[in-house]
Amino acid sequence: MGEAVELPSRIGILPFRNKVLLPGAIIRIRCTSPSSVKLVEQELWQREEKGLIGILPVRDAAETVSVGSILTQGPDLGDRSSKSQTVMSASHKLDGKSQQEPIHWHTRGVAARALHLSRGVEKPSGRVTYTVVLEGLCRFSVMELNTKGAYSTARISPLDMTKAEMERVEQDPDFIALSRQFKVTAMELISVLEQKQKTGGRTKVLLDTVPLHKLADIFVASFEISFEEQLSMLDSVDVKVRLSKATELVDRHLQSIRVAEKITKKVEGQLSKSQKEYLLRQQMRAIKEELGDNDDEDDDVAGLERKMQAAGMPPNVWKHAQRELRRLKKMQPQQPGYNSSRVYLELLADLPWQTTSEEVELDLKAAKERLDSDHFGLEKVKQRIIEYLAVRKLKPDARGPILCFVGPPGVGKTSLVSSIAAALGRKFVRISLGGVKDEADIRGHRRTYIGSMPGRLIDGLKKVAVCNPVMLLDEIDKTGSDVRGDPASALLEVLDPEQNKSFNDHYLNVPFDLSKVIFVATANRAQPIPPPLLDRMEVIELPGYTAEEKLNIAMRHLIPRVLTQHGLNSEFLKIPEVMVKLIIQRYTREAGVRNLERNLAALARAAAVRVAEQDQTVVGPLNKDVQHISSPLMESRLAEGEVEMEVIPMGVNNHEIASAFRVMSPLTVDEDMLEKVLGPPKYDDKETAERVVSPGVSVGLVWTSFGGEVQFIEATSMMGKGDLHLTGQLGDVIKESAQIALTWVRARATELNLTSAEESGNLLEGRDVHIHFPAGAVPKDGPSAGVTLVTALVSLFSRRRVRSDTAMTGEMTLRGLVLPVGGIKDKVLAAHRYGLKRVILPERNLKDLVEVPSAVLGSMEILVAKRMEDVLVQAFEGGCPWRQQHSRL
Ligand code: ADP
Repeated sequence: MGEAVELPSRIGILPFRNKVLLPGAIIRIRCTSPSSVKLVEQELWQREEKGLIGILPVRDAAETVSVGSILTQGPDLGDRSSKSQTVMSASHKLDGKSQQEPIHWHTRGVAARALHLSRGVEKPSGRVTYTVVLEGLCRFSVMELNTKGAYSTARISPLDMTKAEMERVEQDPDFIALSRQFKVTAMELISVLEQKQKTGGRTKVLLDTVPLHKLADIFVASFEISFEEQLSMLDSVDVKVRLSKATELVDRHLQSIRVAEKITKKVEGQLSKSQKEYLLRQQMRAIKEELGDNDDEDDDVAGLERKMQAAGMPPNVWKHAQRELRRLKKMQPQQPGYNSSRVYLELLADLPWQTTSEEVELDLKAAKERLDSDHFGLEKVKQRIIEYLAVRKLKPDARGPILCFVGPPGVGKTSLVSSIAAALGRKFVRISLGGVKDEADIRGHRRTYIGSMPGRLIDGLKKVAVCNPVMLLDEIDKTGSDVRGDPASALLEVLDPEQNKSFNDHYLNVPFDLSKVIFVATANRAQPIPPPLLDRMEVIELPGYTAEEKLNIAMRHLIPRVLTQHGLNSEFLKIPEVMVKLIIQRYTREAGVRNLERNLAALARAAAVRVAEQDQTVVGPLNKDVQHISSPLMESRLAEGEVEMEVIPMGVNNHEIASAFRVMSPLTVDEDMLEKVLGPPKYDDKETAERVVSPGVSVGLVWTSFGGEVQFIEATSMMGKGDLHLTGQLGDVIKESAQIALTWVRARATELNLTSAEESGNLLEGRDVHIHFPAGAVPKDGPSAGVTLVTALVSLFSRRRVRSDTAMTGEMTLRGLVLPVGGIKDKVLAAHRYGLKRVILPERNLKDLVEVPSAVLGSMEILVAKRMEDVLVQAFEGGCPWRQQHSRL
């Protein structure tokens, strides 16, 4: 390698596209194009002593001069065209097809010697190809290029220095310094590479045997550097320039190896198993992206982030959310905790931190109109609501009391609250608290629990998506407390204007401002509501409706609503007032109107079925029923099959269904239809009369969460040892009342003429008494059955019947005083519903009668009692036989 090469003056040229062969380097080239095949054949193959060929770098994209692909040093000859910086001033146009493609030949090339040659024949075409292994020998400069022949040739002159020149340069101190520097750098590179590949110091020998300026070419040829850099290396004819360039490149290579090593070491040190997985996954994601089947997990997280930014969280919450988001970003979707973290962030992003529904200017008149149009009656309640709204209007941020509507089911509590929301122009959300025993239902579970969720309030706010809705806390009396905490205490915080500014949901774990929410509560009874909670609320009672009111509600509100809900109108179904009255009397006996509405809906359903059936008769033109509605003209056309009947699909437009049948006479509900649809009557006015046919039965009035109820009490006696048996799921208070009643009756047995002479005043001589409260499955308690119990016992022992038109209520002391009880209004209404004409009440309850509608009072006789005897006097059939003794009692 050391000796100089004799160069011919003319040489065959093989263009080397976008690549450079440097002296000392070895390449393998597959020659396929006609010109290169020709060159190989002429210059190398057929000669005995293989000649030299010139490898000249070119830059172009022309196909015709392709010499095939390089198989060792580079993947191919390349076809990327780029700007050439060192081109011949006149670019040579090629003949034939690629005339328009100029080839930029480089002015310097390298003469090469063939080390190995092999010939091949491509199968179907029979085309000859050559594979040549070439070694670069020395640089030359092109004096003149001829591209006209079968292959290109060039007149060249050698560029390498002569021996004498070389010896002179070797004395040059610059050269010596450069050589030393190159040697040091090259040495270093070799050591690094040998260390990496764990091979012994064979390469180092090169440094001492090969001249350094040649070694520079060999080194650089092994680096993967750009075409431009390769060219500039080729152009470095001056050995000093070459050495300094090579030193620079070797050094750069060395640095890059070192940096890569450093990074690998660092990364390897740091990578835990999960991080490695992460890296692999990142790569996989990149691959997937490349393949175009990227799932958009990343987009999702970015979307979530955008949503979070738009949520308007307060600064402290935002900070917290960002921390969580950073955690999420570091996690893998498969990692435990990823999902819960995501769901949590989604909640944060979804919550209405600032979103409010635009509050409309409150128009009290419109609000009143709306309440009136939605609800019949309830004047006092509506008045109170208007007052409440008026205060809000004057002072929007007023911390007024929280309204709590108390009343039996179906009296319009919920719908009143939704009317309030509508009047305020706010959204309405209902949170059902019935059966909530766990504090976590209100406050949520901490996120450490599996399956933890936010509480109902936060959940409701998320659904309603504004932070200032009207929130209905439904059935607030039905919350209970047990080992899982006390929901009422959580509610206390919610309803306290001082505390609810920063309501703390355990799941959310950041405070949420509830102060803009308008809370309204409903309950069936006020009594079970814990006193501190009740203290925060203003109770508005809705007692239940009279039959008259129910009739009005049904005619004005329920029937129109039920009809539209079922796609009907009054032109198709008519429910006359008398029939509604019958439904109220015979099929419902509730304080509210829910069952009434249900029964009306049943009628509407039955009517809808008829519509549907007739729908078919219209659609099927051959059905004989069609004749009822078709004109003779139509009939004749039908026979010819000309008329296309329009099919009206059920439920698409309900009004259309109704209008399609306007031709028919409307269906009017009659008693027959009532029985058919609703079944035989459930209640009648004769019930009480039938039940009190025998002595020992009395009619009481009780109060339940469904409003007032009529409660019969049955007493009987049999042979026994003087025991008292009580049945009917009774609580302690009512059991004691029964004891008191029996004691009182026994104590007055003689005065009341209850015992015969031979019984010597002992009522229970040889017998047991059994008292039963029918509807045995319903738990009962409370003191107000006192007077009814005594009446039943007196009736039993005196063998006289109690009046079937009289009901009573009142607590009795051991001494026979009648004490007032609660729920008078509901009880009177219940008696009215049952068709009872007389009600006996404790005298001190007289004041409660003002709440009873006058229409009801007008149709009933109210009797007051101060003492038990007063009750007995009023209660018995055929007057009072012991009146003579009455004064002595
Ligand atoms: P609650 O919440 O008291 O159990 P709802 O508000 O659900 O009762 O009322 C039951 C149904 O009765 C609703 O459809 C409601 O519109 C209707 N309703 C109750 N009272 C009236 C009334 N006074 N006027 C009109 N409709 C009423």
